[in-house]
Amino acid sequence: MDCIFCKIVAGTIPSKKIYEDEQVYAFADIDPKAPVHILVVPRRHIASLAETTPEDGLLLGRLLVLASEIAQANSLDKGFRVVANTGPDGGQTVDHLHLHILGGRQMHWPPG
Ligand code: AMP
Ligand code: ZN
Repeated sequence: MDCIFCKIVAGTIPSKKIYEDEQVYAFADIDPKAPVHILVVPRRHIASLAETTPEDGLLLGRLLVLASEIAQANSLDKGFRVVANTGPDGGQTVDHLHLHILGGRQMHWPPG
């Protein structure tokens, strides 16, 4: 499958690893939009949040709990933002489900 994040998970495209376990891989975003910008992805290919089913509930919960743990492990004690861009209107550019963890500066609302 021609998926850049599957290749990152498999190690065929290099990345700066932040965290990994049997289900999840987290790595530094190559084009950071904040002082801390980490992507958290399931190892299994899921195209987007829109493709998830009730059977993915445990995995999705795990991704969110890990996002919190990874944020704290990276000193984001003043807060952070978790984003899941979904589909063309959502601004998704890589079609493998991922959570952005953004922090280290004041975030603004509403986003663009
Ligand atoms: P999205 O636009 O929400 O689909 O997010 C995709 C993210 O992947 C963007 O923030 C990109 O900077 C990031 N990205 C794309 N290619 C790589 C790569 N090879 N290594 C790390 N991050 C990447
Ligand atoms: Zn993939």
